[in-house]
Amino acid sequence: MWNSRNWIGGEWITPSAGTCAVNNPSCVQEQVGVLHLSDASQVIQAEEAARSALASWSRLTGAARAEHLYRLAGSLESNAEEVVRLACLEMGKPIAEMRGEVMRGVHLLRYYAAEGVRAVGAVIPSSERDVLQYTKKVPLGVVGVITPWNFPVAIPIWKIAPALICGNTVIWKPAEIASLTATRLVEIFAEAGLPPGVLNLVVGKGSQIGDVLLEKISLDAVSFTGSTATGTRIAQLCAKRNIKYQTEMGGKNAAIVLNDADLEKIVPMVVSGAFRSAGQKCTATSRIIVESGIYDAFASALQRAVAELKLAPALDPSAYLGPVASSSQYGAVTSFVQLARKEAEILAEGPPPATGGEQGYFIRPIVAAGLNVQHPLVREEVFGPVAAVLQASDFDEAVSLCNQSVYGLSASLFTENLSYAHRFLDEAQAGMVRVNQETAGVEYQAPFGGMKLSSSHTREQGQAALDFYTETKTCAIRYV
Ligand code: NAD
Repeated sequence: MWNSRNWIGGEWITPSAGTCAVNNPSCVQEQVGVLHLSDASQVIQAEEAARSALASWSRLTGAARAEHLYRLAGSLESNAEEVVRLACLEMGKPIAEMRGEVMRGVHLLRYYAAEGVRAVGAVIPSSERDVLQYTKKVPLGVVGVITPWNFPVAIPIWKIAPALICGNTVIWKPAEIASLTATRLVEIFAEAGLPPGVLNLVVGKGSQIGDVLLEKISLDAVSFTGSTATGTRIAQLCAKRNIKYQTEMGGKNAAIVLNDADLEKIVPMVVSGAFRSAGQKCTATSRIIVESGIYDAFASALQRAVAELKLAPALDPSAYLGPVASSSQYGAVTSFVQLARKEAEILAEGPPPATGGEQGYFIRPIVAAGLNVQHPLVREEVFGPVAAVLQASDFDEAVSLCNQSVYGLSASLFTENLSYAHRFLDEAQAGMVRVNQETAGVEYQAPFGGMKLSSSHTREQGQAALDFYTETKTCAIRYV
């Protein structure tokens, strides 16, 4: 049985503001662990610890901070399989995908470690004689990191690693249903010798400690990933205090299939974009826009592909998709499935769960068709294994449909036509635009983020993260 704990100022503390049982979403009768919830006092302690560690951490050389990050990477790599299995049990991601995610975390740590010795800043010629003018990057201070459950390892690391290498200290509040994994991850980091107070873990409910984090203590910046409703509220609170923030939020990502697409090659990509992780990726494909000339052939190929998907417990290495993550996810996604059964044509449907999957939050993947653009299945984020198909008469109509969304995270086009490819990359309103690639599966060394209600318009990952986690100072010195 696993237990969550807080790590504050280098001490392990079990908070006592309540407990919640954590059950395995692949088999809901099986209890995996217990969450111990924090109250305001732990958040306040975490701020004190992060603030007192800031001076020494920010004064280390980049090379010294890099050594810490390399050690975290090595330690995570050595303990990877344990973290993988715990995350599978806690939030239901299939083991093959979870292994990829943990290795992504290792690579992110190494990528940002290397930034500790990379050149930063610029020398800007002064218009006066004998003046050296240049920019340098300085840390922001104590950064709050608030994360969702769907990438329980990679998302926290793609925030924490750049924050630390830039010299900030961190208070991390993970999602409730990823807090056992968060605790184990921080134990591994603590064992790797991360100094006290540099990273502080506070486990609790957003509804109980969120406001303390955002309004009662004095964070210098906040990086949030989660729903648009929570993210826009956090953005307002940060703006009121004029602190730097980034909010990565929901999506309703479209994949466009044009008449010339090679179905044998592209259908597996469309299916993967829609249904891996049971559709619980912010970049998951949830609208498939198909040009009329290929619609029937695409529909048949899609039906065959979806019918073969294996829905199975997360620890089954052959699972293509596992359960959804929690009872509230199950309720929310099931209501969209019921709506689809009532108001749409079910164009494709996956098989029931494999043996052993009867007791979990399993939802058969479906593709709904025959819907108008105002329908909730076309407009709202489902965050589950449900996709909607729309028909378009030509490329222009397809891009127009793609852009008819309040979200703008990721979009894909499948074609062999170079002109359409370039026009799509220009015209699609999304932060990540991809040709002949699924909407999900972006790379960590490239900027990540969205347009419209998907993001606060900063970018995470790659070099972009270093801009977020630092302030630029313009320095000028006269030789006297
Ligand atoms: P959520 O907004 O419910 O929770 C996200 C985090 O915010 C959790 O840690 C939660 O405890 C915390 N939180 C909740 N209320 C809070 C409050 N009042 N103050 C402070 N913190 C609070 O989202 P979720 O259900 O965990 O994640 C699913 C959502 O995340 C989906 O909408 C998905 O699209 C989005 N997501 C976006 C990205 C991206 O990069 N754009 C990536 C993954 C997930």
